[in-house]
Amino acid sequence: MTLGGTHVLVTGSTSGIGESIAEHFLREGADVVVTGRDEARGKSVAKRLGSAASGRCVFIAADLATAEGPGALAAAAESRLGGIDILVNNAGSYKIDGTPISAADFDEMMHLNVRGVHLLTTALVPGMAERGSGVVVNITSPVAYRGYPGMAAYAGTKAALDMLTKCWAAEYGRSGIRVMALSPGPVITPGVEEAVGTGVNVPQEVLTRTGLVVGRVATGLDISSAVVFLARTDAAYIHGTTFHVDGGMNGVGSLWGADKDAPPE
Ligand code: NAP
Repeated sequence: MTLGGTHVLVTGSTSGIGESIAEHFLREGADVVVTGRDEARGKSVAKRLGSAASGRCVFIAADLATAEGPGALAAAAESRLGGIDILVNNAGSYKIDGTPISAADFDEMMHLNVRGVHLLTTALVPGMAERGSGVVVNITSPVAYRGYPGMAAYAGTKAALDMLTKCWAAEYGRSGIRVMALSPGPVITPGVEEAVGTGVNVPQEVLTRTGLVVGRVATGLDISSAVVFLARTDAAYIHGTTFHVDGGMNGVGSLWGADKDAPPE
């Protein structure tokens, strides 16, 4: 699959990792749907990304944590661009400042990170199956594969997403649809800055907490390059598995707090 003329939907693409992924697909000539809840921010991001691209960039507002949001987004995306060839389920919420969390925060993560992905994917897959090809990339997290303190609920949502990936790969593979998960290492995004808090050097704090052996956090380009690769026909035999683009977090394990006596509060 060359990417010129393909139709891509990247959720959570008005910020952070999703924005980098949308920008990368546009650079490759694809038509891209940018989406998020905040309409003003979304329109401005889509205008900026679209102005430098040969492909079309359209913004569609959607709240994917609601029961109706994912289906409405799928319908609007198909009507604006035509069938979606590549779906990147990137939007996610992370409440990671301790294991006890409110029921509302738990529900928000489950609704966005799991139910929203399920509803959106199952709404778009029939069109892919009809055309005989498609790619779904689910953005998970290193916390889905190893135990980290203070992240139980978030990690649970991403582990669920990893399992959705495998089941969908089994179910949809024969329709020509490849389904993969991609686990990014830490990228300093607006969401991470908010989660880590003010008054600290965020990249340094993230490096210390994760003990990344590569000695640096990831860039948006580190992650978007891998997503775009997975979407290409070069990756035609990659299916039903997880790409760990995480600076070694999964392979090496956690050096969490290696230079401290205890993990950070
Ligand atoms: P971010 O900067 O917080 O951006 C989140 C994006 O999702 C925004 O576009 C936001 O737009 C959208 N969004 C949030 N809630 C939504 C909702 N209810 N409905 C629709 N869209 C919604 O996030 P990020 O750090 O780039 O993370 C992106 C993904 O990567 C997440 O799934 C995260 O779990 C995963 N991840 C991140 C890291 C990292 O270090 N950054 C590492 C591993 C995995 P609106 O607010 O306008 O809705």
